[in-house]
Amino acid sequence: MTEIFKGSFTQQEPIPEDGIRAAMEVLQHGRLHRYNLASGEDGETALLEREFAAYTGAKYALAVASGGYAMATALRAIGVKPGERVLTNAFTLAPVPGAIASIEAVPVFVGVTESLTIDLDDLRAKADQAAVLMLSHMRGHLCDMDQLIQICDEAGITVIEDCAHTMGAAWKGRPSGRDGLIGCYSTQTYKHMNSGEGGFFVTDDDEVMARAVILSGSYMLYGRNGVVPSAEVFERVKYHTPNVSGRMDNLRAAILRPQLAALEKQCAAWNDRYRVVEDGLRGTPGLTVVERPEEETYVGSSIQFLLLDWSEAAIADVLARCSKRGVELKWFGGAEPTGFTSRYDSWRYVSSERMPESDRVLKGIVDMRLPLTFSEKDCALISRIIRAEVGTVFQGQS
Ligand SMILES: *Cc1c(COP(=O)(O)O)cnc(C)c1O
Repeated sequence: MTEIFKGSFTQQEPIPEDGIRAAMEVLQHGRLHRYNLASGEDGETALLEREFAAYTGAKYALAVASGGYAMATALRAIGVKPGERVLTNAFTLAPVPGAIASIEAVPVFVGVTESLTIDLDDLRAKADQAAVLMLSHMRGHLCDMDQLIQICDEAGITVIEDCAHTMGAAWKGRPSGRDGLIGCYSTQTYKHMNSGEGGFFVTDDDEVMARAVILSGSYMLYGRNGVVPSAEVFERVKYHTPNVSGRMDNLRAAILRPQLAALEKQCAAWNDRYRVVEDGLRGTPGLTVVERPEEETYVGSSIQFLLLDWSEAAIADVLARCSKRGVELKWFGGAEPTGFTSRYDSWRYVSSERMPESDRVLKGIVDMRLPLTFSEKDCALISRIIRAEVGTVFQGQS
């Protein structure tokens, strides 16, 4: 009998009951704006900022409207100017080059390795082209962060980390987002916490934080934020920093606080599912599992594998066959941008040189979400289906 999977790859878990209760309270008192506070009240957004700073070990955390907004704010807060070049990953999601382009800076793409991380040799080769790296931990894969920081320190490059897929991850125990000057996170529905839209900005730097708070739309009410530098620091920057509103509100913050408290447990649940799929796929002829380095603590909210050097037609065949059996795979390497396509050459507002080794990897990346609504049994079934269909197409090819 042909096994079919019936679950939905886009169905996340419901918002936890305590999040719903907290959201109802905000709706009932009506003070949704983060700076609309009753006397003596801290507000959900400020409390969330304190808790997120504590969670990441950062001196400061700022809650904002989206991950993309956090990244653009990071670039503005360190003074990136229009026309300035910013290094970033060739394999990432559209909001990353988009954040760079939003301030009229110019993305310069750095290649991707078979580990799906930034190519450090290519980074070294391009290190003299820019003073800033927007490092995207795409699909949760962390590069050798010690080496990366060494390269960037030597070249005088400021690192901003895009941690949209690494909230809860770490390199040698250091939380993702803490090696660079600034870490940016997203709480969009498909990330590790779900407020529909939302994001965070973390840093230890006083002046960068003061600028980010004013940029985010604090008016002159920055004293009501959760964790802020001293008044003198704001005095230095407040007259010269524009207000580019992108605040989080108390309703979203209320939903997020219980999710942050449960994040560690959720990450463990993702990894249980990830390992079932990974084990099921390992050893499939023609399929390359992306092995994770020992130094990396990852969060397996999605899984990638490579069909290296396969023809486009054969990859399309695998996707169609899996889809017929209910398994929704994403081909990030397709030439025509569709859905969440993540190839540097799909962003044609940027001129880029071809990177043949990266192109080979990008062409072969297949991606699958692992929502927590799947059981481990579901995951085993999914991996059996992929294994069978990849095997069938691979045999037909050779
Ligand atoms: C989702 C995502 C972002 C930013 O997300 P927003 O949708 O702007 O919150 C940034 N980088 C990557 C890799 C992402 O997947």
